[in-house]
Amino acid sequence: MPGEVRARIVSPEDFLSAGLVEAGRLDEIRRVAERYSVAVTEDMAALIDPGEPTDPIAAQFVPSGAELMTSAEEFADPIGDERWSPVPGIVHRYPDRVLLKPTLVCPVYCRFCFRREVVGKTPAMLEPAALERAYDYIRERPEIWEVIVTGGDPFVLAPRRLAAIVQTLDAIPHLSVIRFHTRVPIVDPRRVGPALAAALQAEKAVWVAVHANHPRELTPAAKAAVTRLVRAGVPVVSQTVLLRGVNDDEATLEALFRGLVAMRVKPYYLHHADLARGTAHFRTGIAAGQRLVQGLRGRVSGLCQPTYVLDIPGGYGKVPIGRCAIHADDGYGGWAVEDGNGDRHAYPPDPDKAKMRE
Ligand code: SF4
Repeated sequence: MPGEVRARIVSPEDFLSAGLVEAGRLDEIRRVAERYSVAVTEDMAALIDPGEPTDPIAAQFVPSGAELMTSAEEFADPIGDERWSPVPGIVHRYPDRVLLKPTLVCPVYCRFCFRREVVGKTPAMLEPAALERAYDYIRERPEIWEVIVTGGDPFVLAPRRLAAIVQTLDAIPHLSVIRFHTRVPIVDPRRVGPALAAALQAEKAVWVAVHANHPRELTPAAKAAVTRLVRAGVPVVSQTVLLRGVNDDEATLEALFRGLVAMRVKPYYLHHADLARGTAHFRTGIAAGQRLVQGLRGRVSGLCQPTYVLDIPGGYGKVPIGRCAIHADDGYGGWAVEDGNGDRHAYPPDPDKAKMRE
């Protein structure tokens, strides 16, 4: 339920009294809050250094006047959720999987969110009748293999509501996987108690994808929350958004991905930031993202490497956009493959032998 979110800082005045913005910026923050939802949890607020103007945690959660500027390439619905929503609460973009969005409430409102036009707005919850229609949509389509429960953040729901979702999906024979997308284990980790872990128990595979962007978010409490999920038999992966001024350098990404793997979380996706309105100040260039990802190749093991992806605007799907390491070499009909330092090698190694096999 929306009232169960334990974010203490939920208004411009709260940000002011918590010392996260100066009085001179209150009007600016109020104008942002009229357009987009604002909130940060006490756990995340405690990580912010108010004296550091470029604090990477503050950049993610403290509203900024830069959000009031919409650039020409930005959209209200950058990845086309509406276009692919056949019934309320469902997004069906790929044949074998759907998104199910039971709530639009989050524990924090990230300043770069691609769903920022809808999260935290009313209606916050999918009405029971609409939820039932969404379940029927899934039941009637045997091609659906996986349901991704997202929002908003589904882990703000009371454990009994989460358990009801899991049990309903678990009872649909053609489903194999139930996946939750959440920021709660990182930003409000005490919410991940035994009752929540118990709510995820099912016959089918239940996976959790957590959202983390900076190594400072990996607090002892966050590690304990993830450990509770892992010990309950839930595999955990992560999603990160590449954000200018937050994590757009190799050392920060390396620390983040090493930290995640060390707490038993497999880095899954590194998202290029979407073209959401008022977020231009967060976006890096794609070439810069490719350079970062290539740099990471030489620094950390494969276990620590997420796939760098872009959601094609309009809802045409997610595609990997890291530089390809292999190129057709027309000189001899083989391949040229790049190592972690950017040096090229012939594949197969001896071009003459390759020619003899043709
Ligand atoms: S928690 Fe996720 S859905 Fe909610 S505001 Fe942040 S990015 Fe958006």
